[in-house]
Amino acid sequence: MTGVRQAPSSKKYRACHQKPKTIETVSSDNQTAPDALTFADLGLSPKVLAAVTDAGYTIPTPIQAGSIPHALLGKDILGIAQTGTGKTAAFVLPMITRLEKGRARARMPRTLILEPTRELAAQVEENFIRYGKNHKLNIALLIGGVSFDEQEKKLERGADVLIATPGRLLDHQGRGKLLLTGVEILVIDEADRMLDMGFLDDIVTVTKQCPPERQTLLFSATYPEGIEKLAKQFMRSPEQITVADSTEKSLIEQRFYEVTRPTRFEVVAKLLNHFRPVSTLAFCNTKQQCKDLVTTLQQQGFSALALYGELEQRERDQVLAQFANRSASVLVATDVASRGIDIKELSAVINVDITPDPEVHVHRIGRTGRAGETGLAFSLAAMYEMGAVGKIEQYQKQPSTWHKLDELTPTGKGPLLPPMVTLQILGGRKEKIRPGDVLGALTADAGFSREQIGKIVVTEFTTFVAVQRDIAREAMQKLNAGKVKGKSVRVRAL
Ligand code: AMP
Repeated sequence: MTGVRQAPSSKKYRACHQKPKTIETVSSDNQTAPDALTFADLGLSPKVLAAVTDAGYTIPTPIQAGSIPHALLGKDILGIAQTGTGKTAAFVLPMITRLEKGRARARMPRTLILEPTRELAAQVEENFIRYGKNHKLNIALLIGGVSFDEQEKKLERGADVLIATPGRLLDHQGRGKLLLTGVEILVIDEADRMLDMGFLDDIVTVTKQCPPERQTLLFSATYPEGIEKLAKQFMRSPEQITVADSTEKSLIEQRFYEVTRPTRFEVVAKLLNHFRPVSTLAFCNTKQQCKDLVTTLQQQGFSALALYGELEQRERDQVLAQFANRSASVLVATDVASRGIDIKELSAVINVDITPDPEVHVHRIGRTGRAGETGLAFSLAAMYEMGAVGKIEQYQKQPSTWHKLDELTPTGKGPLLPPMVTLQILGGRKEKIRPGDVLGALTADAGFSREQIGKIVVTEFTTFVAVQRDIAREAMQKLNAGKVKGKSVRVRAL
């Protein structure tokens, strides 16, 4: 048997490969295969390989091992894999290798990556920056909520990599500042989600403008008819690589609790106090419910934030930065708003309201238990939601496990506090601030250790840096008194 010879220990990385002509299957038993495949075996360029090594990765995930060699040969790829399987690097790494030959021309991007949401687009950009650190890539990110002018400047310079949401991309085209006739590689990422969001026509319009001889890489978590049609219409004998669903039941422990409408929020607080998860994503069915729950939790001393549609981009960035860097314990979101959030190390998901759509339920709970960790998924159901619970049971082909509310006892450890605090520096990319500048100011200048500093996110106008709770006050004072990139800065704790 050929194909992927090594699968990392995590169950979700077990894969099966299917080629249209010769079917190859890699079973889960394959984990014990003696000859482990490493990134060095895949044919990536030395500069890309060095960046991968610096990122700390040596063993490719199945989607990476399956896609990269074919992508490097210029073949079309149909990857059935979800976020969390390492699929971003599966296309980013071979793309950077292939971009080493040739140059971009003004207004004619060499590659185009379509993403359903701004957050996913920004994450893909981060991957290009991380793995392209030994290259001089000109990356353009075309997403809503950001000014056209800045984006146009990047296009004008000639983009090696163009990452876009379909709507914004077409807006730019309408302004006549973008030509897709030079696209060598087109990536349609999260294709099923884009179809769900009504982007099919946009994808077709965009794809038709790319030259027919381009390479197409399409990734989708599921393979419904719509995707199959898209693949048939726009791809040339693609290599199909399928990775097992990452919502494998064994990694997610589901617990159901019966509640009443008035006690629902109280039970959320009890769950948090009992299990003390570091990061919890709580789903509500409506925006109002999100707001109400956050208010209740905040009143009880929890660090909770709400995410729903209609937030301004700046507010959304701030909320996501605080949650991702572990300085907020709970993010309360609607399903729509939570699309595209990919937060690592999510310890728990709470279904504050049961969703009437069982597929949405599976999607929600799939946010936890990633990367081989066991996750907790709590569902609170009132009598009037039992019908929806029944549908979920049928869909998952397993009965719900019900737990009693009196099992939820407080631990006596005091209020649940997040381990980190976010400091906001007024100033971002516009001021040419880079994560290294902030890290330098905190470690070299202020004398903190690298371990005391968490995630650093630089957005256009502002920078978020997470620091351990016990040094937050001192770190803020030292940053306010010192300099970042040779300039005084204003810093506040969020
Ligand atoms: P993705 O599916 O692209 O969203 O990636 C999920 C997570 O896996 C990201 O945090 C990556 O940094 C991480 N990752 C990607 N490739 C590897 C690898 N080969 N080994 C371990 N982790 C990886």
